[in-house]
Parts: sequence; C-alpha cells; structure tokens
Amino acid sequence: MNINDYVRDIPDFPKKGIIFKDITPALKSPEAFKYIIDKFESTVKDIDFDVIIGPESRGFIFGAPLAYKMGKEFVPVRKPGKLPSEKVSISYELEYGSATLEMHKDAISKGQKVIIVDDILATGGTTEAIIELVKRCGGEVVATLFFAELAFLNPREKLQNVLVESLIQF
Ligand code: IMP
Repeated sequence: MNINDYVRDIPDFPKKGIIFKDITPALKSPEAFKYIIDKFESTVKDIDFDVIIGPESRGFIFGAPLAYKMGKEFVPVRKPGKLPSEKVSISYELEYGSATLEMHKDAISKGQKVIIVDDILATGGTTEAIIELVKRCGGEVVATLFFAELAFLNPREKLQNVLVESLIQF
C-alpha cells in the first residue's frame, strides 16, 4: 500500500502561505488506517514501554488504537482548561506565538517508559514540550512515532536524544 496517497495538501490553511497536510483520507479508508496502526505496532514491538501519550487531537486518533492493540496505558495530553484533575503544564514557542499543553500529574508514575504518538511531526516543538512534561513526572520518553514527518522543517534537530520513527517523510 502507498500510504502517501492518503495525505493531501491543503494550501493556505490555517493561514495564508501554509500548506497543511490533511490526513483525514487515511482515516476514511479502513485499509489505510489499519495499515498505519499495524505498521506502528511492528515499529515499536521490540521496545520496552508502559504508556502511549497522544497529544490533542489527532494524537488521540492514532495513539489510542495502538495502546488498545498493544495492551498499554493511554494518556491524553490536552490543550489548556480541558483536564479536570491536578495538572502539569508547559508553554512553548510556535513559529508565530506560543502554545500550552497540559497533562494530569498522576498520569505518569516515576520510572514509567513512554512512547509519544502523533499524526504529524512538523517543527518538533510539541514533542519536545511533551518530553519535558514526562520528565517532570519522573517518566522517560523512549520513542516517538508519527504517521508523517515534515523533514524539510528539520524537527530532528530538537529531538536528538530520543528515537524518532515516521512512516512517511515529506
Ligand atoms: P510541531 O510542534 O511543529 O512539530 O507540530 C506538530 C503538531 O501540529 C502536531 O500535533 C500536528 O498534529 C500539528 N501539525 C503541524 N503541521 C501540521 C500539518 O501540516 N497537518 C496536520 N497537523 C499538523
């Protein structure tokens, strides 16, 4: 299967000049979605880990079925104001402006090994911020896993100390 065919370019979204990679065609095809989740599993099957973290919102779509399939814990990382219990929170710089992410304080226990799963790796800022959140809870990110990597943005420069896996690269 050529899963490149299930990602489409949307020009000028969410702002003029940005070409947005839209992965919804991969969700609309049961065969493509199954291929991606199965490929994720085979990529990390030999890694010792306890928890999958999925960032809001497409990280939920890809992370949760993988956690279910592999019998691992799933932890959501969310935009501000969504989580009800005690939280750890981090703000980080975006290309324009900044963003904040939150995670429940008790979601990761000391010593737990974590894999971050998301749809797109772009600048790496989101992933870098989540690695710091996990560290603050005493956990360790052992790998990061993406459907697609925007390699032209050089995200691996920010993620030099962690394993980065992506199924397709642009
Ligand atoms: P980063 O922090 O720059 O690596 O951006 C990654 C986050 O932004 C991920 O949660 C992605 O879902 C989202 N993202 C960035 N660029 C795109 C895109 O072109 N298509 C879909 N999502 C994107």
